[in-house]
Amino acid sequence: MVIAIDGPSGAGKSTVARAVAQALGFRYLDTGAMYRCVALASLRSGQRAAALADTVAIELGERVLLDGEDVSTAIRAPEVAELASQVAADPAVRRALTGVQRRLLAHGDWVAEGRDIGTVVAPRAEVKVFLTADDDARAQRRARELGLDAARVLEEQRLRDERDRTREQAPLRPAADATVIDSSGLAAAQVVERIVALATGR
Ligand code: C5P
Repeated sequence: MVIAIDGPSGAGKSTVARAVAQALGFRYLDTGAMYRCVALASLRSGQRAAALADTVAIELGERVLLDGEDVSTAIRAPEVAELASQVAADPAVRRALTGVQRRLLAHGDWVAEGRDIGTVVAPRAEVKVFLTADDDARAQRRARELGLDAARVLEEQRLRDERDRTREQAPLRPAADATVIDSSGLAAAQVVERIVALATGR
């Protein structure tokens, strides 16, 4: 089974997706980490992201490894987030990473989070959730996680979300058959419970 969790940044996707995976004994796929790895590799080497997307070795698990190096912290830097959203608009980068994601999701049970899992990567996912929250709630959540100023996070988030929503390739939008959950007034545990209920039919 594949559970697709898409939505804008700061809606709580990662926390919720990890917890749902743990509750159900599924594997967890953070596709945003893959775009962030390609962005970081490009930032460091000066090479075009499109050229790197096919060649870098990305390993996802407890830690994120890029060509064998632990980059779990480095990929969370604001400049990497910004560049990730730019490289994610490049069709060649999307083609490479979508291919890897589809191969992983073809076997076993997964909770996959991103922007286009329910629409492009796994359109046949058994459960599709579009997780959202109001702008301020999302910015505050991100600011707390990263120890940054909420006003700055809000501004950067608007830019990234706008780019993710308006790009030609795999724009951020709910799949027609997705369940939309607004997490603004909800605790993570409540969101997890709803998604687990969707998956188990309870
Ligand atoms: O989810 P996260 O903030 O880590 O994603 C970083 C960036 O990667 C997003 O802003 C988005 O542009 C891109 N992304 C994407 N498709 C995905 C996952 C992430 O375009 N499935």
